[in-house]
Amino acid sequence: MRQLILIIMTLGTLHAQDFTNQLMEQYPNFKETSINHRRFKHSDLLPLLEKLPAMGFKVEQAGQSYQGRSIYLVSIGRGPLTALLWSQMHGNETTATMAMLDIFNYLGQTESKSVQQLLDQVTLYFIPMLNPDGAELFQRRTSQGIDMNRDALRLQCPESRILKEVRDRLQPDFGFNLHDQNIFYNVGYSSKPATISFLAPAYNQEKEANPQREDAMKVIVAMNEALQTVIPGQVGKYDDTFEPRAFGDNIQNWGTRTILIESGGYADDPEKQFIRQLNFMAILSGLHAIGSKEYSQLDVSKYWDIPLNESNLNDVMIRDVELKDKQGAPFYADIAIRREEHDHEGNSPIFYQGTIEDLGDLSTQFGYQEITEEGLVIAPGKIYPDVLADQQAVRDLGVADLLQQGYTSISLDELPPKGFNELPFDLITNETKAVEGLKVDQPATFLLLKNETVKYAVINGFVHEVVEPIDRVGYGWVYR
Ligand SMILES: [Zn+2]
Repeated sequence: MRQLILIIMTLGTLHAQDFTNQLMEQYPNFKETSINHRRFKHSDLLPLLEKLPAMGFKVEQAGQSYQGRSIYLVSIGRGPLTALLWSQMHGNETTATMAMLDIFNYLGQTESKSVQQLLDQVTLYFIPMLNPDGAELFQRRTSQGIDMNRDALRLQCPESRILKEVRDRLQPDFGFNLHDQNIFYNVGYSSKPATISFLAPAYNQEKEANPQREDAMKVIVAMNEALQTVIPGQVGKYDDTFEPRAFGDNIQNWGTRTILIESGGYADDPEKQFIRQLNFMAILSGLHAIGSKEYSQLDVSKYWDIPLNESNLNDVMIRDVELKDKQGAPFYADIAIRREEHDHEGNSPIFYQGTIEDLGDLSTQFGYQEITEEGLVIAPGKIYPDVLADQQAVRDLGVADLLQQGYTSISLDELPPKGFNELPFDLITNETKAVEGLKVDQPATFLLLKNETVKYAVINGFVHEVVEPIDRVGYGWVYR
């Protein structure tokens, strides 16, 4: 008997593993390619929702945002179990909405056995883009200026009332609360980013675990196991301090087994397109575990084993460089840089402003990019002595040559619009004052010298390696 159970469990695991691999491999067939960056809006979503009824979905209007944008409830399936998934209650957290569109394409396959099996087991409800007014401005809050994740009790936002009303009407067995977190979260004490973080929110101050909350934890265990095969060590667990005003905590309390998924960062994925794929795979793996009831066999202690999220990651970490105090005496420090996203008009494309996040012994912190090199010495960047006409005039001087000479800032007669600049340099006016020394919260623009020559120019938080000039090809004569 014991052997038999072991075999069944092994098969179960294999099955889940196969399913994960399949989802990752077949993903390109389902990706909704009309959306490929994070700053899409309600008007981009609507035509995609309009296609769904022809694919077997029911689409109903659940209500309207404060500014009158329609919020939809999308459903499919006929199973006795029910799951409700809602995304983007924070308007600038779009990763899971993109994944939902991919999931719709996946669930629309009428000829797929595994899809039809899932829909026989579970009826699925989705609210994509719960905060379309926030999405319009790419901001967290609703157009009333309220964080609707603190509005679960007072229900002052129409968006909050829609979520509450749908939850109460459907009384779903499972709830997926889908968010993004900033890219600076890492997993436990490791240098790895928390690309995905989970939480089975607490339903009371005591953070008790009843069987419903434990079911949510077990589904997370299933999703974590799927993710570990693709991004080992890059899954974190959110702190479960009870927040009496938040939706996740309250929906858990109202009897729906609630799972929070936070999409964080992944190296070289600024538009979160790979993280979107991970959402697709993890959510479908979770739904699969729910439909097959495989989750109920999983060990809840494996949920507690997922390391906690920490916020110790930076865009750039430069280790143990030499600085000089005002008297010229050397001291050594690590330097952490974070780049803050800024909006171009129309919220696209993104550009960044890099500042010094911290300075000192940062051995407990990490960087997506780490520079660890002996003998680096900090020096201030130089301002080019002449005022140039425009960006083309800078290019004419030779970008690489300017970097090599240690120029990091250039004054122009006419500056381009604030922030937006296609050159590696900081562009300044005649009157802009240079920052003296390195300070926290100041612009991350400086030089790293090695053997008294420029090795790296760090400008606006981006590191440019300055390559030595290639020896000139000569045309000399040979005298005999
Ligand atoms: Zn959020």
